[in-house]
Amino acid sequence: MILFKKEKDLKPELKRLQNQGKTIAFAPTMGALHNGHLELIRAGKLAGHTTVVSIFINPTQFNDKKDFEKYPVTIEQDIKLLVESGTDILFLPSVAEMYPDGLEALSRYDLGDLENLLEGHYRPGHFQGVCNVMHRLLKKIEPQHLYMGQKDYQQCMVVQKLIADFQLPVQFHVVPTIREESGLAMSSRNTRLSQNARENAVAIYHAHVYVKNNLLKLSLRDLKDNAKKQLKAAGFTEIDYIEICDAHTLQPVQAYHEDQQLVILTAAFTEGVRLIDNMLLN
Ligand code: AMP
Repeated sequence: MILFKKEKDLKPELKRLQNQGKTIAFAPTMGALHNGHLELIRAGKLAGHTTVVSIFINPTQFNDKKDFEKYPVTIEQDIKLLVESGTDILFLPSVAEMYPDGLEALSRYDLGDLENLLEGHYRPGHFQGVCNVMHRLLKKIEPQHLYMGQKDYQQCMVVQKLIADFQLPVQFHVVPTIREESGLAMSSRNTRLSQNARENAVAIYHAHVYVKNNLLKLSLRDLKDNAKKQLKAAGFTEIDYIEICDAHTLQPVQAYHEDQQLVILTAAFTEGVRLIDNMLLN
């Protein structure tokens, strides 16, 4: 694996690979890597691409300063995992490399309703930060393929919109959520939980399975209310949302129609750590 910190050093290597007819698969991350991240790399390798991973804790996508300050950093372990996974290139830029004109000089993206729904509502400015960093990374790396996780469902929609709006020449791939054996979605933030909270956090997954299994038996309102109770009983102190939405528009849905694809999405706090997860329902 070759590590680059600057675009000016990375670009010639990417050019060299391109001249050899190699195609680039890119997986952006914020580090504290786990099996979910490694799955993105595996998917790129399996498709025969040269794999580029970035690690950059993007300050502009954190609406909560404390969350940014507490974000786990495990760079040595990350490098070890990346080498073991057969990653070809690690891009590890500094804040100055990504934002040479400072953190205030940001582009503004039209995200439509995605800006106001769910994560957009509870994390104001978050997706503007995501678009700023993703657009910059995609310009620097110019991959043919981009791999991101379904775990961040709305983020996938936002990045797909970015690619479409700017007609970026990259194919987008969504990788299914990788879970612990218990069902808990793998997340860098899980490392901030006590053993007890980590065991109880699986309640989000169980609540989603409960809703999926009872979709035809109860109203969506009752299903959401029951799911909320399950999270409270498992020690979640604050629930930003448990919402059942149209899987393509993310608009909340009031009643089940079998021809509409639905997704349930949850964001909730336990021990002050905000966890998100989702599940396609039909
Ligand atoms: P992050 O480092 O949390 O910004 O995540 C980097 C990428 O890894 C994003 O595309 C995430 O959706 C993806 N990712 C994170 N957790 C998982 C998971 N458990 N399963 C699959 N992909 C994941």
